Amino acid sequence: MMMRKAQGWIIGAGMTGLAASHVSGAAALEAAERPGGICRSYVVPSAAGGYRFEIGGGHWVFGGDTILNCFLARFGEWRSYRRKSAVYFPGEGTLVPCPLQYHLAALGPKLAAQCVAEMRRERRGTPRTMAAWIEQRFGPTLTRIFFGPFHELYTAGLWTAIAPQDTYKTPLNMEDIVRGAGGGPVVGGGYNGTFLYPAAGLDAFVDALGSRASVETRAQVKRIDTDRRRLELADGRVMGYEWLLATVPLDDVARMAGIGLDVEPDPSTAVLVANLGGRRGPKCPSQHWIYVPRSRSGFHRVGFYSNVDARFLPVEAADRVSVYVERSFRRGRRPSDAETAKYTADVGQELCEWGFLETIEASSANWVETAYTWTTPGSQWREAVIGRLNESGIFTAGRYGNWRFQGIAESLREGLLAGAMLRENGGSR
Ligand SMILES: Cc1cc2nc3c(=O)[nH]c(=O)nc-3n(C[C@H](O)[C@H](O)[C@H](O)COP(=O)(O)OP(=O)(O)OC[C@H]3O[C@@H](n4cnc5c(N)ncnc54)[C@H](O)[C@@H]3O)c2cc1C
Repeated sequence: MMMRKAQGWIIGAGMTGLAASHVSGAAALEAAERPGGICRSYVVPSAAGGYRFEIGGGHWVFGGDTILNCFLARFGEWRSYRRKSAVYFPGEGTLVPCPLQYHLAALGPKLAAQCVAEMRRERRGTPRTMAAWIEQRFGPTLTRIFFGPFHELYTAGLWTAIAPQDTYKTPLNMEDIVRGAGGGPVVGGGYNGTFLYPAAGLDAFVDALGSRASVETRAQVKRIDTDRRRLELADGRVMGYEWLLATVPLDDVARMAGIGLDVEPDPSTAVLVANLGGRRGPKCPSQHWIYVPRSRSGFHRVGFYSNVDARFLPVEAADRVSVYVERSFRRGRRPSDAETAKYTADVGQELCEWGFLETIEASSANWVETAYTWTTPGSQWREAVIGRLNESGIFTAGRYGNWRFQGIAESLREGLLAGAMLRENGGSR
């Protein structure tokens, strides 16, 4: 058994790991054949030509500031888009622009007035769960109509047990709510009003960043021996380390490092992404994505790649549409291949019934085991695990390493910062 010289390593070459490697010079060990994590594109052939899809559904970069945007521009051209999203009520076939609470006029004057009155009510106490927070914030009517059933699907039923999270995503400006309920213009926006996407596609950005990072693909870390500061890889290699930057899910790092706590890890949910391409249906929305409170197949969001960028379509196929559909599952409840194939076909049929698609020409599905991370009320698990890892020279970064909601921009920022700091102090505490 050959052991490499001790040094710093990054575990995972998604956005966080690539950014950290680029700035620190340390190698990122990546289990997959290519870097980028779920931020990768692929093409599915069809009689009409190739449909371009992404592993994790459309990945639009929101939340970039001027400095980050300058960094991104070093890796190619980016295009900016003004977000177009809506809530879709399948029973009625109605599309209401997001944020829903700012466009209540679409629900009719009686319902709109009721929702406004409920949101005006005095709020008492601090809700412990996401469900209680939603009901307190939006009132029983909007919760019943949309926020409740949507969050039931989005969190795979966990919303009544987990702590409130990402509260900035749902703004509540009473002036906008009242104006919108009367059909007036809305001044405030949502949390991601504009977003960027690489002109040459997400793969081009990942490859450009990867070419300026040091990445070892097919290098899956199996175990971390914290006593001897050694990493064991699936291919049998053993490497010493002075420090590690783990960007893989925190519960996986804890398991690899043999850190057992008395408490259960906080929950996470998986997502099954169904990608579909075909002839555009007569009722296909022009939005970039829509949220649905109910669907026969159980999905909660439908995105339209080709409403952002026509290059997701086969060449010269303007009458086609390229779609991604997300459905959440509890961790460890992965459907079999046969169930996934049936589900994907069912989704296609449902979207055809909704008039979004006329025919399906290409389809494929991807499983993302750790897609969303959650916290149970009062849990100290995250802090306790990160503290124990830090004692062994293992640092964490990114959406999954730090177990908190964030997009690509924030993951890149964290990777850059962690990489720069580790380069400066060599990981010593
Ligand atoms: C359904 C969905 C939709 C999203 N949409 C958007 C969006 O529109 N815009 C946006 O900005 N963000 C979006 N995000 C968030 C975005 O995907 C993340 O912020 C980003 O991908 C996180 O990158 P990361 O490098 O931290 O993690 P990851 O991309 O998960 O990187 C971790 C890497 O570690 C590797 N790995 C795992 N285990 C091991 C091991 N044992 N050894 C070695 N390597 C290992 C993995 O293969 C992976 O490449 C979305 C996320 C999901 C789930």
